[in-house]
Amino acid sequence: MTVVLEEKIEAIFRQVIARNPGEEEFHQAVKEVLETLGPVLVKYPEFAHQKIIERVCEPERQIIFRVPWQDDKGEVHINRGFRVEFNSAIGPYKGGLRFHPSVYLGIIKFLGFEQLFKNALTGMPIGGGKGGSDFDPKGKSDNEIMRFCQSFMTELYRHLGEHTDVPAGDVGVGGRELGFLFGQYKRITNRYESGVLTGKGIGWGGSLVRKEATGYGAVYFVREMLKVRKNSVEGKTCVVSGSGNVAIYTMEKLQQLGAKVVACSDSNGIIVHEKGIDLDLIKRLKEVERRRISDYATHHKDAKYIAGGNIWEVPCQIAMPSATQNEINGKDAMTLVKNGCIAVGEGANMPTTPEGVKVFLDAKIAYGPGKAANAGGVATSALEMQQNASRDSWTFEYTDKKLDDIMTRIHSTTYETAEAFGLEGNYVAGANMLSFIKVAQAMVPLGLI
Ligand code: NDP
Repeated sequence: MTVVLEEKIEAIFRQVIARNPGEEEFHQAVKEVLETLGPVLVKYPEFAHQKIIERVCEPERQIIFRVPWQDDKGEVHINRGFRVEFNSAIGPYKGGLRFHPSVYLGIIKFLGFEQLFKNALTGMPIGGGKGGSDFDPKGKSDNEIMRFCQSFMTELYRHLGEHTDVPAGDVGVGGRELGFLFGQYKRITNRYESGVLTGKGIGWGGSLVRKEATGYGAVYFVREMLKVRKNSVEGKTCVVSGSGNVAIYTMEKLQQLGAKVVACSDSNGIIVHEKGIDLDLIKRLKEVERRRISDYATHHKDAKYIAGGNIWEVPCQIAMPSATQNEINGKDAMTLVKNGCIAVGEGANMPTTPEGVKVFLDAKIAYGPGKAANAGGVATSALEMQQNASRDSWTFEYTDKKLDDIMTRIHSTTYETAEAFGLEGNYVAGANMLSFIKVAQAMVPLGLI
């Protein structure tokens, strides 16, 4: 890359920081993409003339709103709601809602920025957006959750629509929350508009496999990375962080492919079970009883619960971070590599810090960044939208095969793009470059928008 070009990209990044002060996660996500775009601008100088990078770094629309709600004791609470509509060049804004106390504009913008590129990789007609609230669903009753969701949707509904903006779940937003959100949307608009939300329940417009899709998809991606290296998932020892939606179905697919998962976690601690994690128990504790992972050890005396433990210190060959951003730092990455880890597949969004990413790339292990590896969730959301549009519902096997094909294609196209730019095996560069080219090629013909 020429020095002039490098300086140009650096200047764009400095401007992003100046225009978005204090939004560290957003800066991190932008930097990681911009760092890989030099060769793309050399090949497509028109993208620089059209100021595509500057345009994609500025969301089309950012909505921030008050969410007042009452708890079971009648006390009033005020939370903040967000929806950042990043880019709709390829299709309606699409991306989940996160309810977690750590949520602020910088988190939603990093997620929306990642989402835009991830969605482009799927090859489906979906743009990028993300939303959520600093509301903490933990410890709330079902009625409190319902009142919060109804208040949230009472503001958000006016910005949504099956051809405009289509949210889904994310951290803290699962089937229960999506039900309350969809119910309120239907009530306010008087429209049964199935395509306005994805991740819906099977009885009210949802798609089979959506629940499993992110986790299954991430494992399909790891399977493909290992295939290139003439290796496989079968027989490998694995560690999966988190114990939410993505983690559970990552563990399920790993087990189905003959791997052994020895550890998982929540934000309080980790469970290590050398015999292999009992997934039925995890599902019961987390999906049905909404309990903490520490309860696992009371059912299995040979399992160890370590409060505040670091899951990346548990030796494994495959690591699948599936909890949250920046959960693997440089030191964790070094520990993983030292302990014999040969593949990392990111189910979570941006779970590895830049220092950690560098360790994986330098060690030349199979490293699948979230943008590519966890795209199966949103891809299956797009399949849900297809079924809603045609008033159809597909079988589990048919939908799972489509998911598998999509993940296999995302793997091969990101691999080939990296190879074409002389960066064989670098899926970070491949995913960033390919998705940026797709977004840019959709933006240019639409004029200055
Ligand atoms: P869930 O809410 O179902 O589960 C999240 C899990 O991660 C829980 O075990 C939670 O523990 C843990 N966790 C969340 N935040 C933190 C934190 N700040 N520190 C430590 N642990 C934390 O969310 P999902 O499984 O849906 O999402 C997990 C990741 O996958 C996120 O990065 C999300 O953006 C990403 N993702 C999700 C998709 C989906 O389809 N759901 C699609 C693509 C990516 P605890 O219960 O203690 O909070």
